[in-house]
Amino acid sequence: MNKKGLLFIISGPAGSGKGTIVSRVRELAQFDFSVSATTRAPRPNEENGVHYYFIDKAEFEHKIETGEMLEYAQYVGNYYGTPKKPVEDALAEGRNIILDIEVKGALQVKEKMPDAVMIYILPPDYETLLARIRGRGTETEEVIQNRMNEARTEIQTFPKYDYVVINDKVEEAAADVLSILHTERMRTSRNTDIKEKFFK
Ligand code: 5GP
Repeated sequence: MNKKGLLFIISGPAGSGKGTIVSRVRELAQFDFSVSATTRAPRPNEENGVHYYFIDKAEFEHKIETGEMLEYAQYVGNYYGTPKKPVEDALAEGRNIILDIEVKGALQVKEKMPDAVMIYILPPDYETLLARIRGRGTETEEVIQNRMNEARTEIQTFPKYDYVVINDKVEEAAADVLSILHTERMRTSRNTDIKEKFFK
């Protein structure tokens, strides 16, 4: 039987650069990416089924009712949620999978799947965070303000995570995430089959 895959949850405030880190980590290591569903409108560069499944509120609420969501949360006025099946399939088939989700959802996943590894990405300081949120340039001033407020509250919760990675330089932060992967693979609880193999 395949060994179970690892579930990585990456969170961080808007402007933490977590999306870029996730992309880099996926270039360097084998990770499926969990494509979330959301009711927010796509940004110009975003593709349905690749970055998100863009669905309306009624469809999203239907998916909640039918139990298709592993977790979900509201963030700055929209629903975001993780479809359950791709995550369960990846893990059962021995593949690692990475979730880029906000804090409330991350805590729901950890409760259901305590083996999940939670990593919080922080920019080096608040100034950098503000500059990065503004620098994206795709959002209205109101959305920017809401994201900044959300970031300020969200950052308080990072001690609930297993690891914190400071994203000063993407390459170094991605290497930090990979070293967490490396370390987590050595956890005794993930290697209960060793005794059997050892004495074979
Ligand atoms: P954005 O609109 O910038 O793509 O994402 C806003 C926030 O929603 C980010 O913090 C992102 O990590 C989070 N997010 C994306 N997908 C999900 C999801 O499936 N569930 C939850 N709880 N948060 C998500």
